[in-house]
Amino acid sequence: MLTNEYLKRVYEDTQNRNAADKEFLQAVYEVFDSLQPYVEKHPELEKNGIMERLVEPDRMVSFRVAWVDDAGKVRVNRGYRCQFNSSIGPYKGGLRFHPTVTRSVIKFLGFEQIFKNSLTSLPLGGGKGGSDFDPKGKSDGEIMRFCQAFMTELHRYIGADVDVPAGDIGVGGREIGYLFGQYKFLKNNFTGVLTGKGLEFGGSLARTEATGYGLLYFVEEMFRCMRCESLEGKTVVISGAGNVAIYAAQKATQLGAKVVTMSDSKGYVYDPNGINLDVMKQIKEVERARISEYAKRVPGVTYGDNRSDVWKIPCDIALPCATQNELDEESAKALVANGVQAVAEGANMPSTPEAIEYLLAHGVLFGPAKAANAGGVATSGLEMSQNSQRYSWSFEEVDKKLKNIMVNIFHNSYNASKDCGMEGNLVVGANVAGFIKVSNAMLAEGVF
Ligand code: NDP
Repeated sequence: MLTNEYLKRVYEDTQNRNAADKEFLQAVYEVFDSLQPYVEKHPELEKNGIMERLVEPDRMVSFRVAWVDDAGKVRVNRGYRCQFNSSIGPYKGGLRFHPTVTRSVIKFLGFEQIFKNSLTSLPLGGGKGGSDFDPKGKSDGEIMRFCQAFMTELHRYIGADVDVPAGDIGVGGREIGYLFGQYKFLKNNFTGVLTGKGLEFGGSLARTEATGYGLLYFVEEMFRCMRCESLEGKTVVISGAGNVAIYAAQKATQLGAKVVTMSDSKGYVYDPNGINLDVMKQIKEVERARISEYAKRVPGVTYGDNRSDVWKIPCDIALPCATQNELDEESAKALVANGVQAVAEGANMPSTPEAIEYLLAHGVLFGPAKAANAGGVATSGLEMSQNSQRYSWSFEEVDKKLKNIMVNIFHNSYNASKDCGMEGNLVVGANVAGFIKVSNAMLAEGVF
């Protein structure tokens, strides 16, 4: 609960000015709540209006994206780019193409990105963008025309030293390729303006794997430090079957754990023998088909059409890797009743505030998204470095840097939680550690 007068006042004002932006307000409240002990001790924050400035994006553009479908019909979607905060580096954050995208979703993601990017220790500001366009069921030609139309407007606002978008839900290698091609065409300029690019045109090895791998490096370090245990033999439940989920499952398996579930927006599969990733990748990455296909192809697998039932499967570790607010209090109760030891967020804000409170109150190790899924943007930062140098590192080099970054993020968050008198509460630790660098830079740079 917010008890600090300054934070309470700024939050109420934010509520009044953004009444319709539910997800954004949820993200702001969570950050404010955990910053209270730090804000109490730093009156210069109020004097310099840091929190008022922090919740107001530098700029937010919304634009029409008109394109022509295969039947010759003109379609119109809405595009967004939120440039939230550039105090420690150029805006950086992914693009999401999904029918659930709204101004509020983009703002919440952009706000979270400020702290996540700060935690990576790389010089990256926070931003996010996307569209309510639904890539499902569209032909490659339609995807290309949409991406070209989207970039025709977006290119005015971005640049390698200004704002560097990447992928997110619905935006993978194919979409980044089309977006990059259109930017290059419009600007006649080959720069590292997007990350997650193909390896042939400036992409980084290990970027595809980075968010999922990074999540597991974080979880591995969390278990090593807080439980003196490895991941060997642990049972893992994962939601989602996209980029983050697939590579989280791959690294968990490499580290000796067994992943027994994955899901998509239509349902989930439970495979007691451990998910066969070759089959899953074929279905999700190549065929772009529904997850129910997995149950048809692999013997002994159960398919359920209520995707939130994944949290009812007994496990040691739960990794929500699909979307926001997918793990609620009821799911948290089911996980605790079945003896879960840790929950770490691969997706952005997948756990509701009530779920987080319940898990922490029951001694479950909890890795919040800002810290646990920062491996993707960190590797995007490494892709930017390689582009600037006109050079590329090997898979092993990038993977080693990624692992170091994730281990450091864990320790910085853990140490910050200790400094705040809440040892082991990584929600507080990650928010405080991410915030300090950003607020110090804002104080140093003057009022904007
Ligand atoms: P993908 O599009 O590759 O996969 C998303 C997965 O989540 C799919 O299985 C999808 O199912 C499911 N999903 C998406 N939206 C919903 C919804 N509203 N309800 C239920 N299921 C849904 O995305 P990513 O794997 O890249 O992203 C997953 C999460 O991780 C997001 O929260 C993203 O912000 C976060 N993230 C991603 C990073 C990255 O590098 N890609 C970096 C850091 C965070 P279906 O196919 O049926 O829609």
